[in-house]
Amino acid sequence: MATTLDRTTALRGFRCRACRTLQPADERFVCAECYGPIEPEYDFASFETEELRARIEAGPASLWRYADLLPVAEPASHFPVGWTPLLRANRLGDAIGIDRLFLKDDTRNPSLSFKDRPVALALARALELGLDTLACASTGNLAGAVAAAAARNGLRAFVFVPATTDEGKIAGAAAYGATVVRVRGTYDQVNRLCGRLADEERWGFVNFTLRPYYAEGSKTLLFECAEQLGWRLPDHVVVPVGSGALLTRTATAAAQLRASGLVDGRPSRIHAAQPAGCAPVSDAVLDGYREVRPVRDPLTVARSLAIGTPADGDGSVAVIRASGGSAAAVSDRAVLDSCDLLAHTEGVLVEPAGGVVLATARALALQGAFGPDESVVLYLTGNAYKGVVEAPPLGQPIAADVDEFRAAYAEALA
Ligand SMILES: *Cc1c(COP(=O)(O)O)cnc(C)c1O
Ligand SMILES: [Zn+2]
Repeated sequence: MATTLDRTTALRGFRCRACRTLQPADERFVCAECYGPIEPEYDFASFETEELRARIEAGPASLWRYADLLPVAEPASHFPVGWTPLLRANRLGDAIGIDRLFLKDDTRNPSLSFKDRPVALALARALELGLDTLACASTGNLAGAVAAAAARNGLRAFVFVPATTDEGKIAGAAAYGATVVRVRGTYDQVNRLCGRLADEERWGFVNFTLRPYYAEGSKTLLFECAEQLGWRLPDHVVVPVGSGALLTRTATAAAQLRASGLVDGRPSRIHAAQPAGCAPVSDAVLDGYREVRPVRDPLTVARSLAIGTPADGDGSVAVIRASGGSAAAVSDRAVLDSCDLLAHTEGVLVEPAGGVVLATARALALQGAFGPDESVVLYLTGNAYKGVVEAPPLGQPIAADVDEFRAAYAEALA
């Protein structure tokens, strides 16, 4: 058992989203009854609101200040993640016609993306279970976050990415010492390969076997925004969507802040930001909130969002509709122009996912989606500085095939 810093949690168990059965927090990661997705459930009635608020405000300058609202305690061994700045953006706001514009600058995490948050939770759980290997399927940023967390805690890491992933991100993950497996195929094919391996190996697969914990880390962005706004929910949040975990957990976080009495007032409207070359969620929203249809061959400069079959896709559409939110699917040209505008007006350098968010906010502002006194928060989730390390030697890309993986990586597996 790893040492953890002593914090309380009101975790009651894990509830199945499909059949609603409540189950204990053991090693399962899907429902024991129906294999549906499971999510932590908390006993909010056990909190005295002002005590909870005081505990949070006196907590560490990291996402662990919200430990009461998370399913696992802080591991003493890990570096701080989260508690990133919320910047008022007046110059950018003037340029695009939004009065009260804020940037949640999550590009400043240890491995330069918001993925350090879900990984912090998954890592804490992996240590609790005594696992010795972390793994993931990634579009780029998750690979770096997993590799850094594994290095910091003396674990082995296997990260699986499409062979077309941004070179700087692959180099970064390899530089932390992870075994980087490049797969010829889309993220969805990488994902299927990893699903098989997750069944066969007792690894901490952050987005499979640890997913119920992983996804909880994404709540902490909204927790921080609300606290930084003086315990008020933003009126609007514009969220980049890959798998949809961040978007759906933004709604969960808002609901939990209201249930625990930490905020009142209107829930935030949640808007999806996707690139036109891979917009399964935005297309479903713009098409009348229908079910998500897979995108077979994603093609976009925003490669971190190129997930054609999002695990939380239908959940995202439902959340957006319930919140009164909207969506946009923006062109690569608009994405790159928006990256420039953000750099020139606010001095913040983002990877294309940030450009997708800003381009979406511009499109929604033109449609009159934001009222004059309403606060608008843009999630900036990835840093532009990811191309700066020299790449260690890499193996050849493999087919999305378990046997080929085992043959090519026999040495690393031994
Ligand atoms: C992974 C990622 C997202 C999307 O996260 P999901 O929870 O998979 O929807 C957004 N921005 C960046 C930079 C990412 O790496
Ligand atoms: Zn179930």
